[in-house]
Amino acid sequence: MPKVTQAQEWLWKPAMIEYNYCCGGCGSPIDLEYDHIIPRCKGGSDSVANIQILCHHCNQHKGKTLFPKVAPRMPESTIANIVANRKEFVYAVRAFKKSIKG
Ligand SMILES: [Zn+2]
Repeated sequence: MPKVTQAQEWLWKPAMIEYNYCCGGCGSPIDLEYDHIIPRCKGGSDSVANIQILCHHCNQHKGKTLFPKVAPRMPESTIANIVANRKEFVYAVRAFKKSIKG
């Protein structure tokens, strides 16, 4: 994802707070990225309503799919939980991709 400008940082800060400073996919508190729920290339806006927080790993898996907004979660305290949640998230994204193809 391209570098976030100061204006975007300011505009999207409420999303960080909504997501408890952790990834909505796995609960990781590190490598966080602002993700467009509806990708820009598919007409999504830059407003905070279209922003969710994902870590780099989950964001990569989501890619440019129109995967529904993920619910905020609390930061996970162990790597094992984050790994387990990531697996779940990856499966959910895969299942979703399949469902929209068929
Ligand atoms: Zn994640």
